[in-house]
Amino acid sequence: MRKVGIFNSIHVKIVLIYVMLILLALQIIGLYFSQQLEETLKLNFTNSIKDRINLVEFSVREEMLKERTSDDPSTETSLRTVLSGFSSDDIIEVRVIDSKYRILASSIPDHQKTMVGQRSIDDIVKRAIVSESPQSVINFNKKTNKRVQKRTQPIMNGSEVIGALYVESNIDKVFKQIDEINRILAGAAAVSLTITIIIGIFIAQTFTRPISDMRRQAQAMAKGNYSRKVRVYGNDELGQLAIAFNHLTNQLLESQSTTEAERRKLASVLENMTDGVISTDRKGRVSLINDSALGMLRMTSDLVLNRPINTILGIEKEYSFEDLIEMRESIPLDFSTEEEPSILRATFSVTQRETGFVNGLIVVLHDNTEQEKIEMERREFVSNVSHELRTPLTTMRSYLEALAEGAWKNEDIAPAFLNVTQTETERMIRLVNDLLKLSRMDSNEYELNTEWVDFNTFFNSIIDRFEFSKSQEVSFRRIVPPVDLFVEIDTDKMTQVIDNIISNALKYSPDGGIVRFNVAVLEDSIRVSISDEGLGIPAANVNRIFDRFFRSDKARSRAMGGTGLGLAIAKEMISAHGGKIWAHSVEGEGTSIFFTLPYEQHDDGEWDV
Ligand code: ADP
Repeated sequence: MRKVGIFNSIHVKIVLIYVMLILLALQIIGLYFSQQLEETLKLNFTNSIKDRINLVEFSVREEMLKERTSDDPSTETSLRTVLSGFSSDDIIEVRVIDSKYRILASSIPDHQKTMVGQRSIDDIVKRAIVSESPQSVINFNKKTNKRVQKRTQPIMNGSEVIGALYVESNIDKVFKQIDEINRILAGAAAVSLTITIIIGIFIAQTFTRPISDMRRQAQAMAKGNYSRKVRVYGNDELGQLAIAFNHLTNQLLESQSTTEAERRKLASVLENMTDGVISTDRKGRVSLINDSALGMLRMTSDLVLNRPINTILGIEKEYSFEDLIEMRESIPLDFSTEEEPSILRATFSVTQRETGFVNGLIVVLHDNTEQEKIEMERREFVSNVSHELRTPLTTMRSYLEALAEGAWKNEDIAPAFLNVTQTETERMIRLVNDLLKLSRMDSNEYELNTEWVDFNTFFNSIIDRFEFSKSQEVSFRRIVPPVDLFVEIDTDKMTQVIDNIISNALKYSPDGGIVRFNVAVLEDSIRVSISDEGLGIPAANVNRIFDRFFRSDKARSRAMGGTGLGLAIAKEMISAHGGKIWAHSVEGEGTSIFFTLPYEQHDDGEWDV
């Protein structure tokens, strides 16, 4: 924040204004006082002079009007005597002038000699005689550097002017007195001004300190520090303002922490959402994206932020940002790679102000891969089932048509034809039975009737059954540990699984081949393997043999009466028992099918109890 200049500061302004006002008041008081004082002093001085002039005037008039004999001294001499008795500190000189402006006498002896008999050249003397009224003037004597008051008063005899009195008085001491008082006044003003400046600074501080405090508080708040509090100095308006300011700080702190909590909540909701969320600014540039969306798009946030949303979603050719704003339906997006399928569904919603102004777009990405996969599998399954049923039905129809057209009469052909229809019917029954089994497993409508059995005994009895009934030249090798391996299994279902694996091994074994049976004890399971030396399965298909209807060699499998569901059922059953099933195969060398079953090893002693 900008620093306040010294003359812009309220502190200095208040002190300046305060000082100016005091100065103005002092000036006015001083001026008025000195003027009044000057007037009064001058008036007093003039009055005292006037009184004395009146006194002299009386004596002078007497002398001037006196009837003189030759014995009497002359008027000038008498007047001189009168004037000589009339001297004081204030009066410098008194002159008597007759009506012809001739100087008759002076109180100064030197002037007596030089001036008496001369005509008076003073203007005010003439004016007093002419106007018959007293005249007064104050002159500044440059030589003595003093002010002198000259005063003339006509001497009247009734209504006739017989002369004038001229009095020069020393008024300078009055001015000196005024100057002295003015000096005292100025000194007092300077002292009072200094005191008031100091008081002014303190008074200004009482205003500016809380204001500066609030300013600092506002600056701290702008930086996000709400812990500071303004000091409340009193209960005046500034104190009230400080209290209001502290209240505002608390409110702001509260609303900020609420906003922060909301923001954190929203961020945590966004981060923990399985759906991807992307928001854009009003130009369609990505401003926020959660981790789920980044994972779905297989991107990092620095690659996405501030880039156009339609480019990020890979739909810039089909849709502009404006199109997406108008978009009311969700659209599918294919982000599949060779390794991983990924089908997303994007839903768009616009964020708008109350005025209708578009603020941006929110895109919600939902991972639809699983649904799409299920849907695809369902379609594939329906098509597979239809196909599997159509083949035997078509065969049966053609044989039945041939029989209907007369073949039934032919004793050589008819039984063979009927045999074919019977085989195909059985295949269809098997197929439908297998489908029912799978369907039950899919909908969890089956129960495992488990019991504890020694797996070795159980396994050996199945192998024995196959060994006795086998029609090919295939030999069996068993590597089975000579111990009891008690496992909890549904023997019926496990028999179906093992039957299927062994019959496959036999199906694909060449004459003279060996089928190996192995049971190994692992840490918390047993691993069973059944290996043959048959055709093997191409590497690309090995993991697919557990898929429904998958047949590596379709013609051969069908010829052998297989439904393509055996291993799929086996997989479901093994996983229902808590185990795993997988295959290992080398084309031309043979195939091994492995599966595991949960098994807990017990110390020998435990079974003795
Ligand atoms: P099918 O009824 O066709 O035997 P399965 O689900 O049992 O159906 O087997 C699926 C496919 O796996 C078979 O069609 C076959 O191609 C392949 N397969 C299974 N076992 C073997 C094996 N031991 N040797 C070679 N291929 C096998």
